[in-house]
Amino acid sequence: MPDLSGTHGLIVGVANKRSISWAIAQAAAAAGARLALTYPSERLEENVRELAATLDNPLVLPCDVGNDQQIADLAAAVDAEFGGLDFCVHGASFAPADALKSPFVETSRESFRIALDISTYSLVGLTRAVVPLMEKRGGGSILTLTYLGSDRVFTNYNVMGVAKAALESSVRYLASDLGPKNIRVNAISAGAIRTLAASGISGFSSILQVYRDKAPLRRGVDQKEVADAAIFLLSQDSRAITGEVMMVDAGFHVIGGV
Ligand code: NAD
Repeated sequence: MPDLSGTHGLIVGVANKRSISWAIAQAAAAAGARLALTYPSERLEENVRELAATLDNPLVLPCDVGNDQQIADLAAAVDAEFGGLDFCVHGASFAPADALKSPFVETSRESFRIALDISTYSLVGLTRAVVPLMEKRGGGSILTLTYLGSDRVFTNYNVMGVAKAALESSVRYLASDLGPKNIRVNAISAGAIRTLAASGISGFSSILQVYRDKAPLRRGVDQKEVADAAIFLLSQDSRAITGEVMMVDAGFHVIGGV
C-alpha cells in the first residue's frame, strides 16, 4: 500500500459509513495520514464525529461547500492545526430530488444551478482555498469523485451527469493551472455503489444490475476498491499523474452495447 505517513489530508464528503469518502478516510489513516473531516450541517455532525472518533487524532470541522465563508474558515482552521496540507478529497455532491426522477428536459433553472454549484463549483472553491496550504508543502494532491453519467446517459442521473461532465472538465483546467505549483488534480470515476447519494436516484438498483451483467469483471465495485485507487492518487506513487479521470468500475466503461 502507498505510504502517507507524516502527511495531512482534508476529506470533504463523509456522511455515513457507506460514504466513499469514509472508505478513503479509513484507507488514508491506515496509510499513516492525519485527517480533517467535515460535516455540511448539524444534522450530519454527530454521524461524522462518531466515525471520526475511530481515527487517530482527527480534526472535525463544519463546511457547507455552497458557502464561500465556510470554505475559507475551513482552510484557515486546517492550516492552524496542520500548518499546511498534503492532500484533499472532494466527495461532495447534491441535486434536488425532483431533478433525479423527472425527465432531464424538465430540469428547472434552480435545480440545475444548485446541482452545479454544490457538485461542481465546490471543487474549484475548495481547491482555491487549499492551494496556499499545499504550497507550504511544496505541492499536493487533490482528488474528486465522478461518474460515467458525465459521458453516457443513465436513466434519472440527469443533471448530475451534466454536473459530472463539468466536474471532469474542471479537473483538467485546475490541473493545468496548478501543475506549476506541483499540485495535482485528478478524479476517480467509480462504478455504481449503494450510498446515501445513490439512494436519491430513482431506479438505482437496475444500474447496479447492469454492472453485474455487462462489466468485464461481471460485478460492481465497492467503497474499499475505490479507496485503494484513491490512496494511490493521493500518494507520491502517482506523482506524474494529473488531469486524469481514472476509471474504477470493473471495466464497465469499455462496453459498447450488448
Ligand atoms: P454520500 O451521500 O455518502 O456522499 C455525498 C456527500 O456530499 C455527503 O457526505 C454529503 O453530506 C455531501 N454534501 C452534500 N451537500 C453538501 C454541501 N452543501 N456541503 C458539503 N457537503 C455536501 O454518497 P457517495 O456515493 O459516497 O458520494 C460521494 C461522491 O462520489 C459524490 O461526488 C458522488 O457523485 C460520487 N460517486 C458516487 C457513486 C455511487 O454510485 N455511489 C459513483 C460514482 C461517483
